Amino acid sequence: MIPRGRRRPGFAAAGTGQLFGMQPPPAPAGRLGCPKRMVFGPCGGVRDDERCELAEHRCVFLGQPVVAWPGPAVEASGPRPGTGPLVLADLSVAPFDPASVRRIVGVLAPVCDGLLVGEHANRPDFPPTMFAAEVIGAGGRIWTTLACRDRNRVVLEQELAGLASVGVDGVLCVTGDGRGVSVRPGVTQVFDLDGTRLAALAAQAGLRVAVPESPEAPPVELRPARVVQKQRAGAHLCVLNHVSTPARVTAFVAAARAAGATLPFVAGVAVYTDEPSARVLQRFPGLHLDAAVVERVLAAPDPRAAGIAAAVAEAVELLAVPGVVGVNLSGMGSARGEDDGARIKAAVAEQLMEAR
Ligand code: SF4
Repeated sequence: MIPRGRRRPGFAAAGTGQLFGMQPPPAPAGRLGCPKRMVFGPCGGVRDDERCELAEHRCVFLGQPVVAWPGPAVEASGPRPGTGPLVLADLSVAPFDPASVRRIVGVLAPVCDGLLVGEHANRPDFPPTMFAAEVIGAGGRIWTTLACRDRNRVVLEQELAGLASVGVDGVLCVTGDGRGVSVRPGVTQVFDLDGTRLAALAAQAGLRVAVPESPEAPPVELRPARVVQKQRAGAHLCVLNHVSTPARVTAFVAAARAAGATLPFVAGVAVYTDEPSARVLQRFPGLHLDAAVVERVLAAPDPRAAGIAAAVAEAVELLAVPGVVGVNLSGMGSARGEDDGARIKAAVAEQLMEAR
């Protein structure tokens, strides 16, 4: 398939020209005992009882100071995000199905500022660059999640160069949630890099870089300072995982500002309209939803309308938080499939546009 994306002037030259000559990220050996071989841990999957996401022991980063990004801050050469409120939406499509991409982009692109493509351990799809070209060709603007779980450093570099070339709006650099033992047994998990080191590579490639953070995953008190180190690694934007209340987002962003972070934040909005779409978010490590709101939506006479209204209300509150420049409409939205989920997220986005 030939990429049909809009080339962004300057991105391709910065990406492909600089990427392979750049200095390797520091400290290639991961922390002893970390299944993801992270240097700049902990990941966002630390359990509420402080157990590792992937093993039965305590996360090896707990009880330790925040790992500082060594040396000078990486210069982030890509353009910075705009200042207006941003409405992103998770792009969930049928895997390996270009027709599904075109259909769902057609529903979401007219009402969203950008589409965030995830990387799921149990749901592989086309390679990120090829997928991005499909989305852009269908008229969407895309932020691509790139995970270290399934690619060694060489392949990550290839994808960064490709994403810069096809003209994505940005890259969300993540270590990646671990693949459970029952998911694709025998498939290795790579973790040559972690999300922070990948962010540095992406910034040096001239891409706009987003990084994730999980405000309510242990160690809660140290996570604001992690954002500072990710910014030093080259991040332009921080995408927050779901938290239980907007007040927690307010406190987290204020703490990150106090620690020295100046980058803008995008907050996650949980979109669910039935039991399966709610429970899958609640079960995800590192995510927290307001349990009272979830039960109220599920018990409503019309859970679909109630779920949309709850998402709009949460988004409006989050957009009022100082430092939050946008929201990401996240989750399946519906158990009836990707097309229905897209219609639900589009309804949330439309109501948000009216409320803005
Ligand atoms: S919770 Fe994450 S960072 Fe901590 S030891 Fe496990 S994989 Fe590593």
